[in-house]
Amino acid sequence: MAEKIWLASPHMSDEGYEMEYVKQAFDTNWIAPLGPNVNEFEKELAAKVGIGHAAALASGSAAIHLALRAAGVGQDDIVFCQDLTFSATANPIIYQNAKPVFIDSDYKTWNMDPEALEKAFEKYPQVKAVLVVHLYGLSADMDKIVEICKKHNVALIEDAAESLGTYYKGKHTGTFGDYGIFSFNGNKIITTSGGGMLVSNNEDKISKARFWATQSRDKARHYQHSELGFNYRMSNIVAGIGRGQLKVLDQRVEKKKYIYEFYKRELGGLDGITMMPVNDWDDPNYWLSCITLNGKIRPIDVMEALEKDNIESRPIWKPMHMQPFFAEYDYVGGDVGEKLFKNGVCLPSDTKMTDEDLERICGIIKGLWVQKTYKEEVASTK
Ligand SMILES: *Cc1c(COP(=O)(O)O)cnc(C)c1O
Repeated sequence: MAEKIWLASPHMSDEGYEMEYVKQAFDTNWIAPLGPNVNEFEKELAAKVGIGHAAALASGSAAIHLALRAAGVGQDDIVFCQDLTFSATANPIIYQNAKPVFIDSDYKTWNMDPEALEKAFEKYPQVKAVLVVHLYGLSADMDKIVEICKKHNVALIEDAAESLGTYYKGKHTGTFGDYGIFSFNGNKIITTSGGGMLVSNNEDKISKARFWATQSRDKARHYQHSELGFNYRMSNIVAGIGRGQLKVLDQRVEKKKYIYEFYKRELGGLDGITMMPVNDWDDPNYWLSCITLNGKIRPIDVMEALEKDNIESRPIWKPMHMQPFFAEYDYVGGDVGEKLFKNGVCLPSDTKMTDEDLERICGIIKGLWVQKTYKEEVASTK
């Protein structure tokens, strides 16, 4: 069996930064609770993305959940949520007993379509929050999204789980709205094995999120609770890994971009292939290199051919309005997300890949086109 190539796997620094911080935690027996790595990781991440405050949490999902609570989303409230995304974006809306209304994407960004968002406001004037996503490290059209949210005076939450290192017009994604969230899950551009971060310029709200995340313990000698609490904090060990990973974020973005450019050069000219859209306002992290296929070669052909050679690839996210669990909720838009799902493939984007790995992948994909042309020639001479 040929050597496995992953879609995106954890990539610790060559320098061993992560181990140094983890070792410090062990040496001082600061395994838990919280501790200096957590405080420093929050400060370092906030500085990196250019925002006032950050709360380190157990996951990106937990961060979305607390962002919704901070925005005051509760029973039966409506939240406009990007339709084309991972279910982790939408699930916390249900945790809060609120109601998602899903909004389609546009082809220009693959993210929330501002026109569909405006239409949704016509239908639902009473909305508690808008939840936009920066998929695959491509930024949504934030000028328009921010303007619409301001006009309607609605809280804006950015799911930047996939876009750490992505800038829109020079400003980091996740810092445009009232709240932003990042994820350090195993396949993200940097990972802590699992973890997340809630960011905001509102210090009170971040303090409140930390309070909720530690079981809402009131200030008292005994255990006193006036509010519902959660066990959502990040551990001092995990935060140590995060501090080390943050040091190599720029390196990872550089490699991800190299991978995207490689695919673009090798595959971009093939009949029916379109690379994911990179707009001139966008400085993406290229978390995953994605393509759409609109010719005779289908995504399943590409995924199966790669799988046969022990190479992992994946379809584009399946839109939320097509998911059985979310079927009862309303949807505003057309068929953009649906088409991207049907025609899209996420190509291997692991930062540990060598040029040989990339050539192996491109060779297999290009082979599909050669086979197709050969079959057509045979057919035409019959
Ligand atoms: C990974 C991801 C999340 C969830 O992050 P976790 O840390 O895994 O909970 C949320 N939204 C999107 C778009 C993601 O890709």
